[in-house]
Amino acid sequence: MKKDMICISCPLGCPLSVEMDESGKVLSVSGNSCKRGEQYAIDECTNPVRMLTTTIRVHGGALPMIPVKTSAPIPKGKMMECMQVINRMALDAPIRMGEVIICNICDTGVDIIATNEL
Ligand code: SF4
Repeated sequence: MKKDMICISCPLGCPLSVEMDESGKVLSVSGNSCKRGEQYAIDECTNPVRMLTTTIRVHGGALPMIPVKTSAPIPKGKMMECMQVINRMALDAPIRMGEVIICNICDTGVDIIATNEL
C-alpha cells in the first residue's frame, strides 16, 4: 500500500511517498530531504497530530473573543471533541497572555492557553 503526502514540517514542503504493509505498518519513506520528514510521515500514518488554534468567547473585555491554542499538538481524532468543549466556554476578562484556559483538554495531556491578553 502506498500513500503520498507533503511534509509540512518546514516551508520546503517535500513530497513524501510512504510504503505500508496491510496492517498499516510503515515499511519505507522516500522523498524526504531530512530525518524530520521521515518522522513526520511515520507519525502521519500511525498517529497524526495537529496544533489547534481557535477563539473563545469573553465577557467584559475590549473584544468579544480571545485567541487560544493548544500547548502542544493533539491527535487529529480529538479535534472535534476539543472544539465542542471550547465552543461551550465563555471566559470573564481580564485574561493574561499565556494563561492556561483549559488544563488537560479531553485527557490529551495538553492545555489550552491564551495567545493574547484581554
Ligand atoms: S523533509 Fe525535511 S526539508 Fe523536507 S519539508 Fe520536511 S522538514 Fe523540510
